[in-house]
Amino acid sequence: MISFNFKRFWLFSIVVVLGLILFFAVEGTLVGEEGMYPISEINRLDLQALGFEISAKDIYNPQGISLIQAIVQVGGCTGSFVSPQGLIVTNHHCAYRAVQAVSTREHDYIRNGFLAPSLKDEILAPGLTVRITVGYWDVTNEVLKVLKPGMEAAERAKAVEHRIKELVAQAEAEHPGQRAEVAEMFPGKSYVMFLYDYLKDIRLVYVPPRSIGEFGGEVDNWMWPRHTGDFSFLRAYVAPGGKPAEYSPENVPYQPKNYLRLNPRGVKEGDRVFILGYPGRTYRHRTSYFLEFEEEIRMPFVVNWYDWQIKLMDKMGEKDRGVALKHLSRIKGLSNTMKNYRGKLLGLKRINLVAKKREEEEKLQNFINSSPELRSKYGDVLVQINQLFHKNRQTAYRELILDYLRRDVLLLNTALTLWDASGEREKPDLERKSAYMDRNFPLTKRRLELSLRNYYEPTDKAIFKELLRKATQLPPDQRIKELDFILGGDKEKWEAEADNFLQILYARTKLTTWTDVGLALEKNREELEKINDPALELAQRLYPAYERLENERKKRKGQMDDLLARLIEVKQKFLGQEFIPDANRTLRLTFGRIKGYSPADAIYYRPFTTLRGVLEKSTGKPPFDTPSQLLELIKAQDYGSFRVDSLGSVPVCMLYDMDTTGGNSGSPIMDASGRLVGINFDRAFEATINDFAWSESYSRSIGVDMRYVLWVTEKIGRVERILEELGFSPTK
Ligand code: ASP
Repeated sequence: MISFNFKRFWLFSIVVVLGLILFFAVEGTLVGEEGMYPISEINRLDLQALGFEISAKDIYNPQGISLIQAIVQVGGCTGSFVSPQGLIVTNHHCAYRAVQAVSTREHDYIRNGFLAPSLKDEILAPGLTVRITVGYWDVTNEVLKVLKPGMEAAERAKAVEHRIKELVAQAEAEHPGQRAEVAEMFPGKSYVMFLYDYLKDIRLVYVPPRSIGEFGGEVDNWMWPRHTGDFSFLRAYVAPGGKPAEYSPENVPYQPKNYLRLNPRGVKEGDRVFILGYPGRTYRHRTSYFLEFEEEIRMPFVVNWYDWQIKLMDKMGEKDRGVALKHLSRIKGLSNTMKNYRGKLLGLKRINLVAKKREEEEKLQNFINSSPELRSKYGDVLVQINQLFHKNRQTAYRELILDYLRRDVLLLNTALTLWDASGEREKPDLERKSAYMDRNFPLTKRRLELSLRNYYEPTDKAIFKELLRKATQLPPDQRIKELDFILGGDKEKWEAEADNFLQILYARTKLTTWTDVGLALEKNREELEKINDPALELAQRLYPAYERLENERKKRKGQMDDLLARLIEVKQKFLGQEFIPDANRTLRLTFGRIKGYSPADAIYYRPFTTLRGVLEKSTGKPPFDTPSQLLELIKAQDYGSFRVDSLGSVPVCMLYDMDTTGGNSGSPIMDASGRLVGINFDRAFEATINDFAWSESYSRSIGVDMRYVLWVTEKIGRVERILEELGFSPTK
């Protein structure tokens, strides 16, 4: 019989408790962390204690050389300098639009890849620009001082916007040649000025074929296990004296202040890694009302709408590669967002996020109600946010239709831009909408030019018609009255009316080529009116609807900013901690470890994929149509110096628990001492919900291993000059 021994029991308990404490202490250091740290917060981190061999100063040092000088924002993505000659590595999908823009039926760089055998063969990557963070300073007081008690919400938003423009103009005047941007860190609460070097001549160097760079396509997108070689090499150029300049054949490679060194031996499971990059947007500090709106209204609308457009564009390009090429990057962008939203919608249900947030908010409200002082300052915050979203729900579909009419109908986008430009360009610079200010207008023009290259009338017309159909389904009090002249007559006959209208519009307009649009962009309102183009007439008719919408949004932003600022304030009091601001396209640090995860019961995902998986997935048909040369190399086990014994093959992609989002695409993954080991390009499906709520258990991001990048560059691209530039000597 077992007799109960008190002494032994206590001894046993103490040992167990001590063991647990030790376990959690060790495990604690292994756990990844939520957090996209702004560079202003890096100093607070003891990186060495976290297992890194570098210090915060090695990352950002205003007085000397540091890693951030090697990090670039390129287009909407991140990249890094990897040579003293301005060579940049980023994702294949970040260069995609530019590659599409220079591709033709005869020179299909999407299908075949692009390779410049020498410097002089590197061609302009249209539409890409590069920014490098040079410094930052807080401008909160400078911004908020324009707010006066009793100001109306819209007036507040306008005053802040105007003040920011003034501060930017001032900063750019003090730092000629550089670009300044004010970032809203916490809405309505804190603002930081960032100063950037800004490079405008970016060229393509080496882009692998789609069958490597986009291997797995939409089937594998947002998924693990992954085998995508999502990388490309670009180069920044400047004028011969070193000044940033628009493209010119005389330009020379840019010499960055710093560039990343490679660690060709890579990392292994459990190793410390970090990322510096430009994450786009997260919404972790928003309320349950925001999430509910996203879950019930906005995201389902977008998913449906994108799905419809993708099907249309796929069909349009079925028989003609030239037509297909025009649609490729739009399809890619739409599909990417659509799958991301589907992941988010599932994730919201899976983790019951709205209900969880509600519970937190209830606790917060109780805390507020517990003190008369707190109640008078914050008592109305949650109620008012709820009311704003309630109101927003009434107008949401109308707003979405107006937004997508402007965004997705290229003809309308062009005409509205022209109409806007002619009005705005007559105002003093600081009074204009941002896209038409002198500092931004060249980019606005370039974007328009690029979008017109993808214009295809049948697609454009069909998109227009479908949005008109959606407009007919709006409740009567939400109807867009500016469209009455097409849709206002007999409800049954709207389709015939719309067809008729679109037929004439598209047949008569001239605003579909850059030659005509470029010329029209130089004209003032009066001159534009004289052109007598039906698309411009339409823009003129619709314009008041957009003006009203913009004012409405300014008002909403003014109200919301004030509420969100107060919400953050009281939340910090309640939880007794400071928060890291949501991602906002500014430079951030995130760190973690190479680590697998369990997406579902009984499944565990290991953190590396290998060439074996490329072979297993290859079917010969897109998106798994691996080039035969690559298959041969795998079969011959021609791994060069990249074979990893523990994997028995070359690693292809990797998984880690760092905190990333869109915009982090192309970010360098660095090892504990700051050497480049991979390029971030995606997240696992469960991690699409990251943007709303991060969790150690499911938040995993995906990167391509530099060993695969080098292997492809050496064995498939055979671009020795790049390998040399990277300081890597190829194996024979
Ligand atoms: N592939 C992603 C993107 O859409 C990267 C991410 O969101 O994690 O940019």
